[in-house]
Amino acid sequence: MLELQSYAAGQWIAPDNSARLMYSAVTGLPIARGGADLDTAAMITHAVQNGGAALRALTFHDRAGLLKSLAQYLDGRKEELYALNPLTGATRADGRIDIDGGIGTLFVFASKGRRDMPEGQIYLDGEVERLSRRGTFLGQHVAVPLHGVAVHINAYNFPVWGMLEKLGPAILAGMPCIVKPATATAYLAESAFRMIMDSGLLPEGAVQLIVGGTGDLLDRLGPQDVVSFTGSAATAFALRSNPRLIRQSTRFIAEQDSLNATVLGPDVTPDTPEFDLFIKEAAQEMTTKAGQKCTAIRRIIVPMALLEAVSDALVARLARTRIGDPALETTRMGALVGFDHRADVQARMAELASEATCIFDGRGMAIEAETPDHGAFQKPALYRCLDPVLAQNIHMVEAFGPVATIMPYSDIKQAAEIANRGGGSLVASVITHDPAVARSMVQASGPWHGRIYINDRDSMGEATGHGSPLPHMIHGGPGRAGGGEEMGGIRGVMHYMQRVAVQGSPRMLAAITDQWLPGAPEITAPVHPFQLVFDDIRIGQTIKTATRRISVEDIEHFARFTGDTFYAHMDDVAAKANPFFPGRVAHGYLLLSFAAGLFVQPDPGPVLANTGLNGLRFHKPVCPGDSLWVRLTAKRKTRRTTEYGEVRWNVTLFNQDDEQVAEYELLTMVAFSR
Ligand code: NAP
Repeated sequence: MLELQSYAAGQWIAPDNSARLMYSAVTGLPIARGGADLDTAAMITHAVQNGGAALRALTFHDRAGLLKSLAQYLDGRKEELYALNPLTGATRADGRIDIDGGIGTLFVFASKGRRDMPEGQIYLDGEVERLSRRGTFLGQHVAVPLHGVAVHINAYNFPVWGMLEKLGPAILAGMPCIVKPATATAYLAESAFRMIMDSGLLPEGAVQLIVGGTGDLLDRLGPQDVVSFTGSAATAFALRSNPRLIRQSTRFIAEQDSLNATVLGPDVTPDTPEFDLFIKEAAQEMTTKAGQKCTAIRRIIVPMALLEAVSDALVARLARTRIGDPALETTRMGALVGFDHRADVQARMAELASEATCIFDGRGMAIEAETPDHGAFQKPALYRCLDPVLAQNIHMVEAFGPVATIMPYSDIKQAAEIANRGGGSLVASVITHDPAVARSMVQASGPWHGRIYINDRDSMGEATGHGSPLPHMIHGGPGRAGGGEEMGGIRGVMHYMQRVAVQGSPRMLAAITDQWLPGAPEITAPVHPFQLVFDDIRIGQTIKTATRRISVEDIEHFARFTGDTFYAHMDDVAAKANPFFPGRVAHGYLLLSFAAGLFVQPDPGPVLANTGLNGLRFHKPVCPGDSLWVRLTAKRKTRRTTEYGEVRWNVTLFNQDDEQVAEYELLTMVAFSR
């Protein structure tokens, strides 16, 4: 019997009289106990005063580095988690989604943090807004971490992934977390949490663990705190109705159950690759993790003419699923998490049966386990409803097991209406090879689903599956699915930060955002800044170049050399007829090339490469006889590797009257040493 400890206010707390028991999904025997009366006030104080303060002292890149090290550490010890995994009823393949999926999610947040967030402590949200005519008063949206604690309440089905997919974005934002895993599988979550503590990577107070009930924790939260909940709609409703949370506007993110749908396109026939793909995905979604996936397919929506063919093919495939002890290599579907849950699934199946006919209940399928009666095994079941437009339960009742209902549609408009009757879902899939079908489904069904997964012969070799939430993409959905949105790259990090509209002069904004803006002070560099190593380059360092006159010969030479003989550069009459040009003008690319020729310092030095340019705009035409000069200013610096970092430069081109003719951001990689 495992004695699970909570980790509260810097102490491991052993189970007390309030402890709950946990049982093996396969043998039904008790395997762990955990839960204690915790000092939740002390936990919040510890999180805020120690964890939050320490995390906020780090930069986004420091935190991203911690997440990467943590992911590497967990990866090195993951077999210990796989050893516990079968107790939850999950096969090794199911465990991969949970354990490797969770670790992979941390890796993605680590790399997003380094690539998409600044090296500092203030996140820039969008571009500078010019709020005044002369540019002395500007606006910039920024985001900074909340000063409270993030409470993560997780569902039982993915104890490791569920914990890590919430911890990744919160830690990256700079917010400490209290994790409360679902009791049924808390032994696996506790084991992963213990590894996080063993790693010693996170500052004290950054993470705490509650095994068992949360006590009065939610009643103590305030406006700087976040609750991120995953579980059933009923629990979400009860928790988000907490008067204290409502009164304090405490952020509440909910990822709930949903009646996810898959639609077979009207273009598909049984002899196309999409037909087999549809059957494969539907069967996989029903049986992976024994259907205990929030994204599992519950409703299978097919053209009326294919109802029989799809039903037969799906039943045949489901009947081939090998059910049994999840520890056996041959097993494809393990057990439900426990007997109480199985009773719940069977009660929901009875509700479905009131308006749908069971066309497959797994009769005759063997359960390959030593004592099949002791495990919470549930054979797959497929229902058929011929009138999905009038039916209610099939769109509302979630049997959180290997159970789905197949239903016909008459045309694609009706298919979308049926899919939308789930009242909001995490994901809907469309298997079609016809872009018009995919497009009309996105338009008609988009508002009702957090993710629309389209698959066909072109993408099926690499597609990640209807049911896989990816850290790069948002996971969540409207209405019944909870209205929440997790992950989605930096979007998921923003839940733990406050967006602030900052207004002020360019000098103020540049100082706040570590980014030079036109109008902010320019600093004269001691030498050409291309001769300075990364750390010696200061934001605002500027050079102004000599002037170069542009002649007709230059333009004609460039046109012949590159082959760009567009009429605006070659034909004065034709150019004049164009509303943009007074006559022949220099090529924009010629201006860029001349600009580089003016600002570049040619000697070997710390600048390693030009890796791109952003936001190029040509403001004013340049005609033969005009002159050009350039202002080059160090705008922003970001460390990339242990050897070099990225320096972004503002490059502005002016004519002989000091009018701005072009502007862009130049990206260079600059070495840390010569
Ligand atoms: P659940 O019964 O709603 O429980 C979810 C979590 O809430 C558990 O940690 C539970 O703890 C906790 N909880 C329950 N009452 C609480 C209270 N009064 N105060 C504080 N915490 C409380 O859901 P589940 O059975 O674990 O998970 C299955 C459901 O989750 C399914 O409906 C599934 O669709 C949904 N789900 C959704 C997603 C998603 O991303 N949208 C992902 C996975 C699962 P205890 O276990 O200790 O009661």
